[in-house]
Amino acid sequence: MEVERTFEEAHRKLIEHLRRMGVSDRVLSAMSRVKRHLFVPENLGFEAYADYPLPIGEGQTISAPHMVAMMCDYLEFEEGEQVLEIGAGSGYHAAVVAELIGGTGQVYSVERIPWLVSIATTNLAHAGYTNVTVIEGDGTLGLPEHAPFDKISVTCAAPDIPPPLLEQLKLGGKMAIPIGKHWQALYLVEKKNGVTRDRKTDVAFVPLVGKYGFTER
Ligand code: SAH
Repeated sequence: MEVERTFEEAHRKLIEHLRRMGVSDRVLSAMSRVKRHLFVPENLGFEAYADYPLPIGEGQTISAPHMVAMMCDYLEFEEGEQVLEIGAGSGYHAAVVAELIGGTGQVYSVERIPWLVSIATTNLAHAGYTNVTVIEGDGTLGLPEHAPFDKISVTCAAPDIPPPLLEQLKLGGKMAIPIGKHWQALYLVEKKNGVTRDRKTDVAFVPLVGKYGFTER
């Protein structure tokens, strides 16, 4: 009971912090409905509402809340959209997207590390999300069987845009993707008659490892 209240208070403060950073009301409202403490390792629960990345095992991290917020704002999610996420990790980012697209939308999240597939699946079920499917595989190949997608959110850093992801994006669709090895920037990619890429900000993500990603160390 006491612990629940402590989480609620920390969550409220995080939302206020994100509001001061300029995050939209719509994304703030979605993030205020997702309990981040259900997505971090139990021993890190006390840091669940801090605005920095946390280790989730296997050398991977759950992104800082402001990074999730920023990517969601760039992608301008709408009710009912079909979304592809690359890198399920803890499942937290997918849960925020699930809130934004509602029960008529669907998130497919691909994760390459089997142990994290089961962590994300368990966390999302525990938190009550039924519109997210976590799939094991190499996300650089996309998910042709569920394409095309309105939005694609890549939560690890790629050497460049994997061609299958661009192919599987709808005309008029948007993709947020960190690109770079040591120095990375977040790009907003839009597929219209041509493809535009808009460099947004410097970022630090774990690498995208796969056929159109980096090779495993
Ligand atoms: N969105 C996550 C953050 C994940 S960190 C969250 O909210 O917690 C990035 C994840 O991308 C890691 O779990 C890593 O294993 C995964 N990843 C890296 N390369 C991948 C690939 N080719 N396909 C799918 N997942 C990949």
